[in-house]
Amino acid sequence: MTSPAKTSVELLATPVQYIKGVGPQRAELLARLGLATARDLLFFFPRDYQDLSDVRDCGQLEDGSLVRLRGSVLEIDQHATGPGKTVLGVLLGCGAGRVRLLWFNQPYLLQRFQIGQELLVTGKTRLNGCMWEIAHPQVQWLETEEHETALLVPVYPLTEGLSQGQIRRIVRAVVESYAGVLDEVFPEEYLASHDLWTLGEALPQIHFPADRASLARARRRLVYQELLVLQLALAVRHHAQRTLRRAPPLEATARIDARIRRLFPFELTPGQRQAIEEVAADMAQPHPMNRLLQGDVGSGKTAVAVYAMLLAVAHGHQAVLMAPTEVLARQHALTLEGILTSSKVRWAVLSGALTRSQRRDVLARAAAGELDVVLGTQAVIQAEVEFARLGLVVIDEQHKFGVRQRATLKQAGLDPHYLVMTATPIPRTVTMTLFGDLDISVLRDSPPGRQAVNTYWAQPEQREKWWEFFRGKLREGRQGYVITPLVDGPEEMQEASLEQAFESLVNGPLEAFRLDLIHGRMTAAAKEGAMAAFRRGDTQVLVATTVVEVGVDVPNATLMTIEAGERFGLSQLHQLRGRVGRGNRPGFCCVFAEPAGDDGRRRLEAFVSISDGFRLAEIDFEIRGPGDLLGTRQHGLPPLRIADLARDGDVLAEARTDAQRLAAEDPGLCRAEHERLKRMVLARYGRVLELGDVG
Ligand code: ADP
Ligand code: MG
Repeated sequence: MTSPAKTSVELLATPVQYIKGVGPQRAELLARLGLATARDLLFFFPRDYQDLSDVRDCGQLEDGSLVRLRGSVLEIDQHATGPGKTVLGVLLGCGAGRVRLLWFNQPYLLQRFQIGQELLVTGKTRLNGCMWEIAHPQVQWLETEEHETALLVPVYPLTEGLSQGQIRRIVRAVVESYAGVLDEVFPEEYLASHDLWTLGEALPQIHFPADRASLARARRRLVYQELLVLQLALAVRHHAQRTLRRAPPLEATARIDARIRRLFPFELTPGQRQAIEEVAADMAQPHPMNRLLQGDVGSGKTAVAVYAMLLAVAHGHQAVLMAPTEVLARQHALTLEGILTSSKVRWAVLSGALTRSQRRDVLARAAAGELDVVLGTQAVIQAEVEFARLGLVVIDEQHKFGVRQRATLKQAGLDPHYLVMTATPIPRTVTMTLFGDLDISVLRDSPPGRQAVNTYWAQPEQREKWWEFFRGKLREGRQGYVITPLVDGPEEMQEASLEQAFESLVNGPLEAFRLDLIHGRMTAAAKEGAMAAFRRGDTQVLVATTVVEVGVDVPNATLMTIEAGERFGLSQLHQLRGRVGRGNRPGFCCVFAEPAGDDGRRRLEAFVSISDGFRLAEIDFEIRGPGDLLGTRQHGLPPLRIADLARDGDVLAEARTDAQRLAAEDPGLCRAEHERLKRMVLARYGRVLELGDVG
């Protein structure tokens, strides 16, 4: 009797329990690592490789140095040296030389050694007479297969109760019996033209590489596949949003364009003109715009947003601008006020400082279509406002969100166009992934007359000198900020440390000046009051936690002091520095910092010497890796298994181009040759990217 042959899908779904060397107990341990099937194990990639080829030869040993040696056990000898005292000696032959490993008073170790075993040992060498010795080395027992050929040994993530040796044997068994049954994802010509290995070639080599070159090729294949699937998911979503969703087409006719441009009190920069052109081209389409506008602090993103809002209003639609904080919403209100004084545009700020009835009134007018523009914080607007004819949503300083987050606003009918703005310079590799379903405009220039900010990293003994300079500038009429250290803990603690810093400034170096403070726990009205007084110049120095966040724009403020700068990330430091030097006077930024490690020092050195936010972001990325803020998980995407955005930029670019071409030719991935890819895309990203209605 023969049972019908299993398909490869069924075979790969074999529970780990039935794999050679596993069994029910180990299956439980593997489950803790998220490994349930043969397929899971095949794609359980090593987190690192141990390179056995750099192991020292006995002939090159030096006294007292830490070494790693590979060799085979030649002799084992244990004897008593006194009552209850033993010494175990294991003679290891490495190439032509020998070394004696010693353990004192650990008789139970005897049973673990056998003549002929291959060991990898790490420890400190000592010359005893003419014999090299290592006392109490760390030992790793190598597998027979490993010492025959492999110089690169995989190191897997582990869980308690499972050793490297065990997991290696299990993975080896799986690779041997299952790697061959995997269906290839790509057609042969595709693999050839992209210089990619087949899956069947790559998988064994990612686990047990023959050498570095093979490891690199195997890795490239798997990284490419992972990134292509991600990019395809993004491209498919992008395409779906562009075609399946409908938005009002809002064309910038010559008349409308001229009317809007007249309102700006300045000449637009070439960058602004370019961005406006891109935005207007999107908004003219009957599908929603999804555009990210990136521009360093002070590059003039607001003007682009205002243009887009007025374009929507010109067509009788409503626009909304959402800021991350009240302070910023208020500032945008001031900008609009300046631009719209003599226009008929009806607008309102939905601020925490409104009374209840004022608030009700704003909500009612928005719902009735009697307001053209509404400003406010994202939290408030998203929760409360309903629009009659929403045409455009602008989200300012949305740097913490990615692909998945898009404000959902209450309104019936057509979707609005979206413009998302950020001053957080995002490395290209990250924009291509986390923001991968957005079109991107970049403002690379800044308004004319902008001065560089002179940046210093000062030591505590230079404090008095800095305050002397600070006071001098205040007397010349300038204003400044003092940013107090970030404190771990609840906001009350932030506040306490801020007040302390404030007191010591008022009673110390800034005694003769008008100071105020601002922090996160103040009411909206109090914050607005403090910002307004600073803007008017009534307050000369604003002492703040990081509330003076991104976006605050007071051109007369040219001084910035940052305390405990080692506690801030590079991007954050750059954002803070961006508060000054916004007018046509030079800015001065002094950061006091005592970083603990090399990375901290590298960050500060970069901060002082580089003023380009994009360059700084790349450096931050190199130092920290994709890490917390820009990690995939925080953005709602499943983590990447093998690709590393900081390292695989080239493969990413290639995968992105290929994915976009594929999606353009076959947007629903419906063709037979894309069947496999489509399944992978849906399995991994279908739900998080809401691709359910695709194809
Ligand atoms: P950000 O990109 O940081 O949001 P803003 O939009 O706040 O920058 O602009 C920063 C400052 O530059 C504002 O004071 C704004 O009025 C001014 N500004 C913007 N565009 C221009 C321009 N083309 N010419 C002169 N000043 C400009
Ligand atoms: Mg801004």
